[in-house]
Amino acid sequence: MMKRCKECSSEMVISREAYRYNESGLPNVVLKDVEIRRCPNCGTQEVPLPRVAELHRAIAVVLVHKAARFLGAEVRYLRKYMGWSGVDFASHMGVNPETVSRWENDKEVISSQSDRLLRLIVVRGWPVEDYSVDDLTKIDDRKDPPPVEVELRVRDRRWQSAA
Ligand SMILES: [Zn+2]
Repeated sequence: MMKRCKECSSEMVISREAYRYNESGLPNVVLKDVEIRRCPNCGTQEVPLPRVAELHRAIAVVLVHKAARFLGAEVRYLRKYMGWSGVDFASHMGVNPETVSRWENDKEVISSQSDRLLRLIVVRGWPVEDYSVDDLTKIDDRKDPPPVEVELRVRDRRWQSAA
């Protein structure tokens, strides 16, 4: 199906490629085999991601299974996933909004207890199958955890791990 550029009406060139999903706010989310449309005339690029709500849920599921403490960008992602402002999030977590801001900007490391509470809030908010509270005992609380790595692709019409 031919697509025309919204800017200059040239015919878009369509390819399927791995796409680093920087719009998620997370550094290491790679989506495999997604459609990318580029205008050969003006350089406009479109990435029409399918099933975005499900994609965001799939990323949240990877995050709550992460075996290391959350980084600021991951806290921010999960707060937005829950649909909360900083103030809403602070009241659910029982902290000051300034604390949320410090977590999200990596000025303060999220406490082990807050990290675990956030996982349970996310899991409770939109239930994740196969999430055992025993997973909370496996979290590595070291101070400088690596960011989560996410690779997803659409398979059988669902976003699934590409690993
Ligand atoms: Zn164009």
